[in-house]
Amino acid sequence: MNILTTNYHISPELVKKAEEIEIALKPQFENIEKIQEKNQLWVLDCFREERIQPSHFASTYGYGYDDTGRDKLKTLFARIFKAEDAIVRPQIASGTHALALALQGLTRKGTRILSASGAPYDTLEGIIGHKKEVEGSLIDMGATYTELPLKNKRLDFEGLKTEAKNADLIMLQRSRGYQDRPSLLVSEIKQACDIIKSANENAIIFVDNCYGEFVEEMEPIEAGADIIVGSLIKNAGGGIAPTGAYIAGKKELIQKIAYRMTAPGIGEEVGSYAGGYLPFFQGIFLAPQTVAQALKGAIFASKVLEEFGYTPSPRYNETRGCIIQSVCLYNKENLVEFCRQIQAVSPVEAFVTPEPWAMPGYTDEVIMAAGTFIQGASIELSGDAPIREPYMFYMQGGIVYHQVKAAILCAVQKMKGDK
Ligand SMILES: *Cc1c(COP(=O)(O)O)cnc(C)c1O
Repeated sequence: MNILTTNYHISPELVKKAEEIEIALKPQFENIEKIQEKNQLWVLDCFREERIQPSHFASTYGYGYDDTGRDKLKTLFARIFKAEDAIVRPQIASGTHALALALQGLTRKGTRILSASGAPYDTLEGIIGHKKEVEGSLIDMGATYTELPLKNKRLDFEGLKTEAKNADLIMLQRSRGYQDRPSLLVSEIKQACDIIKSANENAIIFVDNCYGEFVEEMEPIEAGADIIVGSLIKNAGGGIAPTGAYIAGKKELIQKIAYRMTAPGIGEEVGSYAGGYLPFFQGIFLAPQTVAQALKGAIFASKVLEEFGYTPSPRYNETRGCIIQSVCLYNKENLVEFCRQIQAVSPVEAFVTPEPWAMPGYTDEVIMAAGTFIQGASIELSGDAPIREPYMFYMQGGIVYHQVKAAILCAVQKMKGDK
């Protein structure tokens, strides 16, 4: 008997159905592998060009003057993302921290910020300070903020033509985050960049690249973005980097951000890491493969959930711009069961039972699954949901496809299926 049946208690009928679904998904899987191959060979070539060697992996201490590992890591990232320069640091604690750092580094009194992809990711509310007064927010420091709403869930290119003239820094968010909209494709980012550059050549185009890296063959810098930001416990860390984030883009902008990161006049000259840089190099090397695993898992989940009568987004055959998969599960019981099965089929803390809880700062109760090696790493199979209608579950990651497959099969078998 199949190990899915003997050890995961999935019925032989469902195992057979899963096999049929995998055959049906062949065109989608082959497309992912094609993108993976191109991205993987590009990353490998960047390693060769940068002459990466064991001394770059060493631990460093103190000020970190002449930290060649740190400096190599940044030139490697810059090359991979086709940027003039980059900052890659374990000391940047999260994607939100990197976004704050970059935005603060580029903002002065009077800077006009425009979010061109509608409302930004939740954690940016504190950074910008547009929802309520936040001490030290960009608005508190003298910036202004405008939001260009999406039009039919897509970028409003017409509106952007006008709004771009009145903005100094224009933000685009590649991933859908927790919104009910498709993620931005790099071709759409390019279209936006072209419009912005012809309307206002001085505007800085800023892309929140979280969850988007290596999903497509092109990255936003190639499309015309001036600065991109992402987390290393998401795509670009390949499931290996233990912490950190990166910022890549125009040299003069990276310099301003570096002055904000440490101190004006010092910038990137300092910063050591006693843990050593090995996992960051390994992580970015593995990232195209890891992202491909996560995408295959998401597509499998989407197809299976659809066959069982739930409503996934994106659908299995839609073009993807990020690794997030959402699914409408119709009631609380399904939501809780789904989340518990994701946790139960995880390598770490599989024995833990997720419960809905009142998370600080959220209106509704939230339930989460995160059986991950690295705390909060959402490139590993993980997911969460607010307990409210229409009972949407947001899942992402999966550094190994077979884990995602087993988890999804356990979930659909356990859920009652009623709406
Ligand atoms: C995850 C994410 C962030 C914030 O990153 P954290 O590492 O969770 O702080 C910002 N924007 C988007 C689109 C994200 O997906």
